[in-house]
Amino acid sequence: MDAQLYYEGQWLDGVEMQRFTVENPATNQVIGTAVSASLKDLDRIIGSAEKGSSIWAKTLANERARALKRVASLIRDHQDELALLLTQEEGKAIGEARSEIGTGADFFDFYAAEALRTYGTTMPSPSPSRSIWTTRSPIGVSALITPWNYPFSTICRKMAPALAAGCSVIVKPAEETPLIASKLIEIIHAVNLPKGVVNFVTGDPQLIGTNLVADPRVRKVSFTGSTEIGRTILHNAADNITSVSLELGGNAPVIIFDDASIDDAVQGIIRCKFRNAGQVCLATNRIYVQRNVLSQLRERLHQAVNALQVGDGTHQNVQMGPLINQQAIDKVSHHVADATAKGATIECGGEAIPGAGYFYTPTILSNASETMTLAHEETFGPVAPLFTFDTEDEVYERANGTPYGLVAYVFTKNLTRAMRAIGVLDFGVVGVNDPGPSLVEAPLGGVKASGLGREGGHDGIEEFLETKYVSMRY
Ligand code: NAP
Repeated sequence: MDAQLYYEGQWLDGVEMQRFTVENPATNQVIGTAVSASLKDLDRIIGSAEKGSSIWAKTLANERARALKRVASLIRDHQDELALLLTQEEGKAIGEARSEIGTGADFFDFYAAEALRTYGTTMPSPSPSRSIWTTRSPIGVSALITPWNYPFSTICRKMAPALAAGCSVIVKPAEETPLIASKLIEIIHAVNLPKGVVNFVTGDPQLIGTNLVADPRVRKVSFTGSTEIGRTILHNAADNITSVSLELGGNAPVIIFDDASIDDAVQGIIRCKFRNAGQVCLATNRIYVQRNVLSQLRERLHQAVNALQVGDGTHQNVQMGPLINQQAIDKVSHHVADATAKGATIECGGEAIPGAGYFYTPTILSNASETMTLAHEETFGPVAPLFTFDTEDEVYERANGTPYGLVAYVFTKNLTRAMRAIGVLDFGVVGVNDPGPSLVEAPLGGVKASGLGREGGHDGIEEFLETKYVSMRY
């Protein structure tokens, strides 16, 4: 598949005719190419979005809602075909890919409804001859910059609320996964939105990403990715005071108290550590286990991890696919080597799998400690490090001891303890006995170095709206 650029309602090649290749991380085979856009292309694309913005902002909300519902329905019609491409491009197991495509459709349905609820407010006036109220309007051209790990649903999570609010969008996917993003744009093309409402650019992030963010015609940047690039984006948006939403990296703790259901905790770790081979912003990076249940948990986790089927995600029985590229393998290997040099024990796994593809064995490390790199940096791979704790106060302090604050998980059957944990943990999301808190209906986002703003739920559309306050005397 050879993806093109998309603007002014048309598929076009870049003016310089340059392309880059896309690889299947399970086989190392080239599965397609995408355009390395030039600055001239980018200028045309932003111009197209500017025209689209003025048309779409004036389009009635119920018309926008109907268009979004059509997108949702078309995504569902193509779910299997989209899931296969997603697995071939990103590597995740096919069942996870189907679920990601379904979530993408759910975002369009949810925000079709939210398009009708961008209410302003009327305030009690301090005078009989004066009225005061607010209206909501779309923020304008929105650049949506997305990572490779959820390359379909992350775009939908941003695009659906942006379009619902009346903004035009420019989608800039990651270089590893432009093909599935391009398929989403094909679906949207079939819905016949006004020209310029949806636009698509691929290419060198230094050139395209930097200039997209810094262009004064772009009024909103919604970014999901690493904290490092998030900082760069914030700097680049500063000159034009462009609104920025950032969904960044995490360093999620999971705390397992001795009163928890150990079976639930083990299943929770399998879900939030080995899903997408651990390449999830919500993946747990630090597993804190109360000392008196450590050996029980370690044994059951070992059994569950050994049962995981690793391989090409297109095969039906596979539960965990490859990592995205060699850099990811190198980072995971470095974290494991650093941990073992500082006293961790490899309970299982701990090595890359030789041969084609970027596979790493599902790994459990015991005796993990805060001296290790993996306690401070996202591993973004299938490595479950077990830390031990004794008291509640101690574990909260250790769990909060990170500049990140995306998500924390707690396993306990004690309601009072759960309420204390919710109050004390300094994270944007807390999952109590729940390893999968991310939902279309709920606001997801981090505090501290994990980001600015929220995606999902009603909060998600707020990121694309401005408030106009009116005061009228008569
Ligand atoms: P990344 O390297 O930060 O890249 C994210 C996106 O930014 C890609 O499209 C990338 O393009 C682009 N980019 C790179 N440099 C840029 C620049 N100077 N200006 C504008 N755009 C630029 O992140 P990643 O490796 O793709 O994704 C993994 C990270 O995303 C992890 O840290 C993970 O935790 C985080 N994440 C967070 C959430 C959340 O909801 N909080 C969700 C998913 C992932 P190229 O790919 O072409 O370099």
